Amino acid sequence: MQDKLHLTGRVALVTGASRGIGYFIARGLAAAGAHVVAVARTVGGLEELDDEIKADGKGEATLVPLDLTDMAGIDRLGGAIHERWGKLDVLVANAGILGVIAPVSHVEAKVFERVMAINVTSTWRLIRSVDPLLRQSDAGRAIIMSSGAAHSARAYWGPYAASKAAVEALARSWADETKNLALCINSVNPGATRTAMRALAMPGENPDTLPHPSEIAENILQLANPALTETGLIFDARERKFLAYRLPE
Ligand code: NDP
Repeated sequence: MQDKLHLTGRVALVTGASRGIGYFIARGLAAAGAHVVAVARTVGGLEELDDEIKADGKGEATLVPLDLTDMAGIDRLGGAIHERWGKLDVLVANAGILGVIAPVSHVEAKVFERVMAINVTSTWRLIRSVDPLLRQSDAGRAIIMSSGAAHSARAYWGPYAASKAAVEALARSWADETKNLALCINSVNPGATRTAMRALAMPGENPDTLPHPSEIAENILQLANPALTETGLIFDARERKFLAYRLPE
């Protein structure tokens, strides 16, 4: 698991690459030599990423400004990757939103639906769009960003917790379906990380007490390693270890 990453000639798709954890995962994949297809809405953040990747002088980036609620856009993205490379080696489904911290019974319908659209439906749509491309890789790797909230299901975190439980279940089913192929599909719990989302969730918290997203991203990068063998598991990024869920025999 701790081998140095060599991703030259490999293509990686990262959603939520404009800031936070996804930004540093994208940068790390490029630093390992990958061509990174970087998706988010904020063009400024994507351009900053591109500048950093160029300055690092290893991999390359293709910037894709896309709102992930545009499901047809996700389908077109898969088609464009197929046209250009005929395969995808790494999927990082990282984009997500918190929604609102509120009692389950008080959440507005449009907020609930948006959390599900971005955190769950777009992740499923992305999986559907790129699964055939990952199967063309000699070592396809998928990293699905979850959260400890999927399991803790704390008071007031209902929509977000439900969305993360849903993507974990999707990832595990997909892993089970592909366990005899050269694919490794794992969910990640990054743990509390110093990002905009965390600040929104915990406005009173001192961000300096939390790990920087570059540190967490560095640990997550190992899941993109072609030498990885684990699939269908949940990776605790802070502890750098897989949690107990295993595929049925
Ligand atoms: P940030 O809020 O810092 O970044 C979220 C990213 O998602 C941004 O790049 C944003 O880009 C993108 N995004 C949001 N909505 C859309 C959309 N509609 N279309 C396209 N892209 C979108 O979050 P983090 O880095 O903290 O979180 C990354 C992942 O880690 C998330 O899935 C989160 O749930 C998970 N996580 C984070 C934890 C933490 O403590 N930070 C803890 C547990 C899990 P843009 O706005 O430019 O579109």
